[in-house]
Amino acid sequence: MSKQYEAVIGLEIHLQLKTGTKVFCQCSADYDNSLANSHTCPVCLGHPGALPKLNEKVLEFAIIGGLALNCEINPYSRFDRKNYFYPDTPKSYQITQFEHTYASNGWLEYKMPNGNLKKVTIREIHIEEDAGKMVHSDALGESFINFNRTSIPLIEIVTQPDIKTSQEAYEFLNALKSILKYSGISDVNMENGSLRCDSNVSVMEIGSSVFGTRTETKNLNSFKAVSRAIDYEIERQIGVIENGGKIVQETRTWDEAEGITKSMRSKEEANDYRYFPEPDLPPVVVSKEYIESLRSKLPEFFEEKKARFMLEYQIPEYDAGILSEDVELANYFETAVKVSENAKLTSSWILTELLKVLKDSRIEIESFHINSENFGKLVKLIHTGIISGKIAKEIFETMVGGKDIDPEKIVESKGLKQISDVSALETIVEKVLSANAQSVADFKAGKDRAIKALMGQVMKETKGQANPQLVNELVLAKLNQ
Ligand SMILES: [Zn+2]
Repeated sequence: MSKQYEAVIGLEIHLQLKTGTKVFCQCSADYDNSLANSHTCPVCLGHPGALPKLNEKVLEFAIIGGLALNCEINPYSRFDRKNYFYPDTPKSYQITQFEHTYASNGWLEYKMPNGNLKKVTIREIHIEEDAGKMVHSDALGESFINFNRTSIPLIEIVTQPDIKTSQEAYEFLNALKSILKYSGISDVNMENGSLRCDSNVSVMEIGSSVFGTRTETKNLNSFKAVSRAIDYEIERQIGVIENGGKIVQETRTWDEAEGITKSMRSKEEANDYRYFPEPDLPPVVVSKEYIESLRSKLPEFFEEKKARFMLEYQIPEYDAGILSEDVELANYFETAVKVSENAKLTSSWILTELLKVLKDSRIEIESFHINSENFGKLVKLIHTGIISGKIAKEIFETMVGGKDIDPEKIVESKGLKQISDVSALETIVEKVLSANAQSVADFKAGKDRAIKALMGQVMKETKGQANPQLVNELVLAKLNQ
């Protein structure tokens, strides 16, 4: 009988804090759209004699992240130097927290698609600085270094190896992203690099208490990639063991195009880095009062918001869950409701129409060009009876295809107002009834469905602009005369 294996998975997540400035100097932390090496100073370039100073906002954001993940915030923590040479690290060391991290022993509980709850322990979180960015140009045969990213504040979240499957890892990352976005400390976006994830995977025989040798996989650029790379690593490691081989402790890189992990370098041990306490920075000592003052300012998180949405807006649990999963979507909903004055219709339009557009164009709500106010106006036009749901869909399409257009202006300029004028509709109804004698006869013979055909004709005559409820009433009244 072949052996049965189980996987042991831990994740390391690097998160950029959106503090606006770097961690140990006053340089701007916006490194994406600026001229290369324009956001640098002697401190972040590691000039001799330049002294780092911890940005207080970094500490504040880091603690908020720790509290959001149920961590103990340690009253004493310290910075260490992690020594290694690489061109993107001008000091030849990275300032990080090794021995005394600022947060530890947290946890995150989340729901799996089958409804089961899963809890993962957060072993520790530490504050550290980012490295610069190497840019390799094949065309020029040269490499460049941009130090704008050097010393951007990061927190590194390290989980215990509590995760057993790629799906558990995938759901963990989604739950982590949601809660970190809620806490407001980061953009939490893998595409722009503000969230990065490495996975540590090993396999062992089911029931064994001895962990196998683990490998670390880097270069994972989406949650899907994390999940695929974990599955690949599990298969690969089992294959090696089954063939009598040994797993080598190493760092591997994920090749998205080929869908495989490749060996990158043998895994460094901690002592390869010659960690020692950073002599230029004092230890970080935080008071209980300071921690509690930050705890009291924590925002309303997912579960609370979901419950409030159900109560305040009278929407079903499922809908409230989707709307509150992403804090930006939740905010969009709430501002749209203020304008539309109809929560249920706003919610159903977001869930059906808006989310479909986001999914099709693969963007998140922050990048959606229709603002919540105009979206709310569109919903208001429907529920006040000015336009029909059908016309609203056409207007929404125009809004999606164009710039951020005010739906009221589209209705005005295209003359799309719903016809609710009784006398105008009566004339059309009479015309349709006399032209469709067969349907009228069918109705009178007891075929109730014939009314649908007649209503359809009226809607067609009015190019969909008639108020359907009114048409129904008028047709019925005429037929029963
Ligand atoms: Zn600087």
